[in-house]
This record gives sequence, structure tokens and C-alpha cells, in this order.
Amino acid sequence: MHRLPPDHYIAGIQAGDRLVLSRAITLVESQLESDQALALQVLEAVLPQTGNAIRIGITGVPGVGKSTFIEAFGKHLTSSGKKLAVLAIDPSSQRSHGSILGDKTRMETLSMDPLAYIRPSPSGGSAGGVGNKTRETMLLCEAAGFEVILIETVGVGQSETVVHGMVDFFLLLMLAGAGDELQGMKRGIMELADAIAITKADGDNAAAAERARVEYQNALHLFPPAPSQWIPPVLTCSALQNQGIEALWRLILEHQTRLTQNGFRDRNRQQQNLDWLHRTIRQQLETRFYRQPGMPERLAQIESQVQKGELLPLQGAQLLLTSWL
Ligand code: GDP
Repeated sequence: MHRLPPDHYIAGIQAGDRLVLSRAITLVESQLESDQALALQVLEAVLPQTGNAIRIGITGVPGVGKSTFIEAFGKHLTSSGKKLAVLAIDPSSQRSHGSILGDKTRMETLSMDPLAYIRPSPSGGSAGGVGNKTRETMLLCEAAGFEVILIETVGVGQSETVVHGMVDFFLLLMLAGAGDELQGMKRGIMELADAIAITKADGDNAAAAERARVEYQNALHLFPPAPSQWIPPVLTCSALQNQGIEALWRLILEHQTRLTQNGFRDRNRQQQNLDWLHRTIRQQLETRFYRQPGMPERLAQIESQVQKGELLPLQGAQLLLTSWL
């Protein structure tokens, strides 16, 4: 990529120039050390302009209606003049070099909206790398003046936990009539949710959606209260009929007001910063460890000994680590 001086990126982002924003995000996502150094310079410079957005995470199984929901929700926001950025964590990008947004029909209307900015965020390969640079991308979007950031994940591997760790409000979309097994499976994710929305609550599905709403609300009551004292409500919505969308936005605003007042929003963001620090340290240590000169050969040798049972995994790890540290 053709690189420009840092001031070009900084000024462009601060002026809300999307093209420059997109280029800066590409820099942030780059694996090249020189790009990363430049990205860091840009991030440092715009840091004072970050933190002002409402950060929302959205998750749900494929087919639950995420992109249709985001379209309706996004339109609701932009029609009241709000600037919205949608970052979609893309689990397919590594495998196929394609993109969940490669499918042009996704969020078609919203992608044409001058107040909306949609960008896939590569998942970065390993499970530990989920949404690797999504957090930095979010900061750049905030500096570019976006007031609401939506981070979408399809819930593969650990991505929900990672996204939960970078947002103020975590929304779980669920289908009616998905059965008890699914409910059990989703328990861990339900515990992260600040609200659950039962999607497609229209036509023949409306009654089932209402039953599911009551069921999930009862299930949530069994969970221990959150440290923020927020009790996650369960709503129904229909993105196709534009129902329940405004109520959900009001709910998010109420959550934001309440948690700002009781200090939890700021405390939560501080904790998220610390978690990100440690996550980054872990990732970089791992990368540097495996990238040492001669490592593939040494590793192969130790692996073979461990496989044959000649060496304990603990011994093998220690051998590799002592020669490193
Ligand atoms: P995603 O995979 O979670 O992004 O789901 P999509 O937004 O692509 O939606 C999956 C399918 O559900 C599509 O055929 C949509 O038309 C349909 N769908 C989405 N929202 C609604 C809704 O509110 N009502 C109804 N009846 N269908 C919906």
C-alpha cells in the first residue's frame, strides 16, 4: 500500500474523511512492522477524540436476522442524524479471503447511507486473534466522528467474549422456538447480554416470539445480578416491519444514562483497557516466540520427542522457553 505521512491520516480522520479513515484502518490491520508503527502514531494523535461513541455489540447465530436488524436499526439512527459505523467481525476472511460483506446484498441500503460506514474486520486467523484490530478500528471511527459503533459477530469460537470486552452494550438476537438445547448452549452468551431481542416477531411468528420473550425473561431472572445492577430485558422485534427497533434504541440510551450515572460505564471501559493491554501482551509474546530464528526446526525436534513420549510437554516447553528468555 502506498503510505502517506502521519499528518495526512490524522487530519483526514479528524475531518471525517472516509477514504482516509479506510486507509488508516488498512494500516492498523497490516502485519508489516512499518505500517504498524505508522498506525500507532496515528492512533496516539487521535486518542483525545476517541471514547465519545456509544459502543454496541450484536451477536446471534447465522440466519437470526442480524444484517436485516442492523439495516433497520441503522436507518432509525441515521434518519435522526446520527453517524453510525458498523464493524463486522468476519470469521471467513482468513479461510477464503472472502468476506461476509462480500455478499453485496448485506446491508444494501445502509451501505449507501451517507451517515453510515460499514467495514468488515478480519478475525485474524487463530481463535485468540478474534477481532484482532477491531478495537483500534473502533477508536479510529470514533475519532472520525461516528457517534454509534456497532460491532457485529456471528458468534464463532470466542468472538462474543472478545466483542463483549470492547463494548458498552451487548445485544443478543435470538429466534423463537429454537428449543431447549439451544438455550442450554447459549447460556454462556446469555450471561453476557445486556438485552435479548427475539427477532422476526411478525405474522405467524408473532405469538411464538412473545412466548419466547417470556421464557427467556424468566431464564434471565435466574442469573445472578450483574455488577452494574442492570437487569437485561428481553424484547421482541421485527426488522422487516420496523417494530421494536425504536424501543431497543431507547433502552440502549437508558442503559447508557444509568451506567454513566452510577459510574459503571467508565469503570467498565477502564477494565476493558486493562484487559486489552494484557491480551496484547500475550499475543505479542506468542508471536515473537514463534517467530524467532531457527524456531521451526527446534520446535519440530521437541514436538517429535514429545510425541514419542521421550520428553514431557512441560520439559519441552521449558527447553524452548529458557533458550528464549
Ligand atoms: P443474519 O445471517 O443473521 O445476518 O440474517 P439475515 O438478516 O440475513 O436474515 C436471515 C433471513 O431472515 C432473511 O431471509 C431475512 O429476510 C429474514 N428476516 C430477517 N429479519 C426478519 C424479520 O424481522 N421478519 C421476518 N419475517 N424475516 C426476517
